Parts: sequence; structure tokens; C-alpha cells
Amino acid sequence: MSKSTALNVNITASRVGAYYDHACPRFTAYNIIADPTLVGWSERSREHTASQEAGKVWEKEALCILEESGFSCYAEDENENVVSDFKSMSGRDAKFGDLSEETTIDIFRSPDKYLRDLAVKKTGYIYQTTISATESFMNSLIFGNEELSGMCRDMFEDRDECIHANWSICKPDLIRVDIEEDGTPVFSVIDMKHAKHAHLSHKVQVAVYVRLLENLFKDRGISGRINREEGYLWNFKKAEPRAFDLSVVMPYMDRFFKEELPVTLKGLKEVLPDTFTGLKDCLKDEVADSLNRHFCAIPTQMCEWCDNYQVCIKWQKEHEPVTLLPYLSSFAQEYLRTRQIPLNTAEFKSYVSDDDNRTRMSEDCFSLKKLLR
Ligand code: SF4
Repeated sequence: MSKSTALNVNITASRVGAYYDHACPRFTAYNIIADPTLVGWSERSREHTASQEAGKVWEKEALCILEESGFSCYAEDENENVVSDFKSMSGRDAKFGDLSEETTIDIFRSPDKYLRDLAVKKTGYIYQTTISATESFMNSLIFGNEELSGMCRDMFEDRDECIHANWSICKPDLIRVDIEEDGTPVFSVIDMKHAKHAHLSHKVQVAVYVRLLENLFKDRGISGRINREEGYLWNFKKAEPRAFDLSVVMPYMDRFFKEELPVTLKGLKEVLPDTFTGLKDCLKDEVADSLNRHFCAIPTQMCEWCDNYQVCIKWQKEHEPVTLLPYLSSFAQEYLRTRQIPLNTAEFKSYVSDDDNRTRMSEDCFSLKKLLR
């Protein structure tokens, strides 16, 4: 089947993490569609390129810190030459390259071949590896929802006429290799972030990388141990990466794959025409309206970081203005929706003018209590 007839959706580790920044079903749907303008939603902003550039500058600085601390670090420039002097790469124009998948696997198999003095120093770093999803990863995570597994398989294996889903290759910033006393290499994932503080979304992203690595090692028969106890984030200007407990974060990652992703894909399939061959401009508004009705919006201050802001908030003002009232928590948003409380202004006023309704809402939800005072 030609992929050009279906709507492309791309799932990446950072998009899995982004779910926890917004916790908004409409954002999740928007964020995985490769070109949201095809369904009448906003174009993705190009402003992100500036923040990605800033992130790259910080990554170069962090690599210089490792080098100055005497650690061996393997990286390649954009022409696949091994970088031997990180300081010379710290200028804005100097660019690192991504390691190929083949090189990545070869390093995992024989880290001492690539990391100078690893046997003596016991620790080394690999920059920008390339990791794709193996069969075990797809089976355990992407197709892990028993009820919707068949639908997801059809989408990922190009048998669905409406949606073509794709798991993009992942590039964790750094993999640290520690040699244990018995000589076993242990691989830990470190992601470098331009943000000053660690966010749950970043931790979830690292958790996905760890799960990808575990399955890659299993499916490709690579020896060595993956550190599944701790992940690391190296935030802007911090002297070193900081560890976090992966056992606390894994349930968030599992929840995305078991619940959010399949439900989002199912929702898209229900709303879009059976065969998605692109829509005429006049139909896009109709489809965007159906998508907005299907995927509820949870407006919070994070909306300012959502590229769909203009289209989404305009629709909310016209159809569900109550959700835009200030200081409503996401719990309150969910509460209003799950109890089918009217979300347009006139009907909401009439609903809360009833004393019983008012009392029940105030008792059930603190942010609604404050609103109804
Ligand atoms: S603007 Fe806010 S409510 Fe709308 S999709 Fe984006 S995050 Fe969700």
C-alpha cells in the first residue's frame, strides 16, 4: 500500500516525554501528526530550531567538561572523522555528527576499541549514538495494549489505509560506559538538556532510551549490562550529570504506551476518513472541528509552548469557554468533562445556579470551589 495515501504519524522518545509536559489529549494527537496542517491544525513552529541550536552549544560545553576531567569520549564530526580535541569543536560552526547504527552497535560490542584507556580509567562516554526500535521493543511497548494491539500493528506495518505510524530512530546524547570489577561493561543513558532543571518529561525520555537499549542488547545478542536502576540528566551549566531513580519513572513511560498512544491512534482513526488521501482545504476546518470535539483540550500555562495554541484556543473560546476560566486545575478540567457538565457559558451559569450542583462541585474539587465562591 502506498504510504502517501495515509496520514503519517511519528512517535519519538521526546514526544513520549512531551505528553507529561502538557497532559493534554489534544496536544498528544497534534504532536504525533507529522504534518498537522493536513488536518486543519497549526503548522509546527520553526522557533524550535533556535532552542535546538542553544542545546547543541551546551552539549559542546559539556563534552569539553568531560575532556578536561580526563575522560575518554568517542564522537565523530559531520564527516564521520573521530573528534580528538573537543575544545576545537566548541565554536558555533563546528558540527558533530550522529554515529551510524552500525558504529553504535560495534562500540556497544567492543567499547575498549573506541574509548582510549577504558580498561585503566574504567569510565568513558559515547556521544550521539543511533538506536532504532527492535522487535522486542515494538512487541512489549508499542503493541503492549492487548485490546488495540491489532490496530497498532496494522498502522506500524503499513496495512492501515488511514494512518501510517512510524517509530523514529533515537539518539541519546551520551552513553556512559563503566567497567565493573569482573570486566563487564555497564551502559548508562545521559541526556543533556538546555533547561536549568530536570523535568518529568526529560526523565521519561531517558526511560524510553533505556528500554530501547535493553531490547537492542537482547535482540542483537550484545553482552554487557544496561543500567536500568538510574538514568541521568545533565542540565544547563551543571558541573556534572545528575542521577534519578528510573523505577519511579518507568510507570509513566508504560502508561503512555499502554494507554495514551493506542487511544490517541484509535481516536485519529475514528475521526479521519477511512482512507486518508489528504483533504481539500474546504474540508480541513470540518476535520479540525471533529478532532477538537474528539480530543479534549486541557488548557494550562503550558499552552504557550504548544504550536497549536492559536487554532486550539480559538476553538475553545467558541465552543467550551468554561475550560479557559483562570486557575482551573487539570483535575477540574477532567472533572467537568467526565460528569458532562455544560462547558458553554450560558448553560454552565444555569447549571451552577442550582444549589445541589454547586455544593457537589465545591465539595469534589478545590479549584471549582474557589471559582464558585
Ligand atoms: S493549546 Fe493547550 S489545550 Fe490546546 S492542544 Fe495545545 S496544550 Fe492542549
